[in-house]
Amino acid sequence: MEIKLDRLSSYINDSAKPLLIAGPCSAESNEQMLATAIELKKTNTSVFRAGIWKPRTRPNSFEGVGTPALEWLKNVKEETGLKVITEVAKPKHVEQVLKYNIDMLWIGARTTGNPFAIQDIAESLRGVDIPVFVKNPLNADIDLWLGTIERFYNAGIKKIVAVHRGFFAYGSKKYRNIPQWQLPVELKRLVPGIPLICDPSHIAGDKMLVKEVSQTAMDLNFDGLMIETHIDPKNALSDQQQQLNPMELKELQDSLIIRNRNVTDKEVASSLKELRSQIDRLDDKLIDVLRERMHLAQLIGLDKKNNDITILQPERWRYILEDRTGKGIKEGLSNEFLILLLRAIHQESINIQMKVMNSKE
Ligand code: PEP
Ligand code: MN
Repeated sequence: MEIKLDRLSSYINDSAKPLLIAGPCSAESNEQMLATAIELKKTNTSVFRAGIWKPRTRPNSFEGVGTPALEWLKNVKEETGLKVITEVAKPKHVEQVLKYNIDMLWIGARTTGNPFAIQDIAESLRGVDIPVFVKNPLNADIDLWLGTIERFYNAGIKKIVAVHRGFFAYGSKKYRNIPQWQLPVELKRLVPGIPLICDPSHIAGDKMLVKEVSQTAMDLNFDGLMIETHIDPKNALSDQQQQLNPMELKELQDSLIIRNRNVTDKEVASSLKELRSQIDRLDDKLIDVLRERMHLAQLIGLDKKNNDITILQPERWRYILEDRTGKGIKEGLSNEFLILLLRAIHQESINIQMKVMNSKE
């Protein structure tokens, strides 16, 4: 289905580029909210965020103060002029958020993964013109992310923004949630008009990494950032390690390199064009080599079929993996990339041999 969305600048027109959304993980008190917001006014922040109902992975963590915090969010809006956004996870939350004139809402990662909940929330928004920010689901399932966007679109919402917050991976060391940048890039290909925001705080899980992740998002042409910011992160009631204070946010904002989206310089354009045509030629060669390789796999499949030999030969596969990664690493290619590539080639080769094996001829 074709999704035609409103442009981000049509509803956040005062926004600096990139759009900056900042504020605490959770609303804790009126003082904490106002103090944070007043400091954030000294940055390029255009939207103030705070979680009011916090879906926590385990019970007995701070689950937010609930409805009373809507009053505080309203105060932030009135005192600072910042737009305000919070998370909703069920129609009851939507009802409250609309009652308090909250400007925008976001759908958390745990809710995006639940189509029943999403359908109910979408229905509760039918006929309401409010921007909805959709975080990716916890698992790296692009259809769930896309499905949630489609459910809101089908309910008449035209202001939808995708928020990339990384994906859960058991045992992940560097990041709290691994970025898997190819997923938001693919989402943008599937829904070209969708504004894309990165939440580096939940990807990083550690304030020291927030800047690096933010810069990567900028280099990948994201439209904005949602960064958890607390007036006193050490005493925050949730996500202590990853929240910046407003000063640190200002430093981060000033250090970001925002690259040009379009190539305007003629010399740069012509050099890019030349390099791209070289890449096009190499890709043609790659396809040729792959075609030839798969043809050989087909011949091997025939041999195996005629001689009743199994398709998978673990020794041979181990040899290929070791030999090719060894050679590739010497040429400066990364182990991670080589393994991914060799696995894909090997799998296709198995698929081809399966077809040969199962054909009647
Ligand atoms: C949040 O933004 O505070 C939050 C809970 O995020 P997520 O749903 O991405 O975990
Ligand atoms: Mn948080």
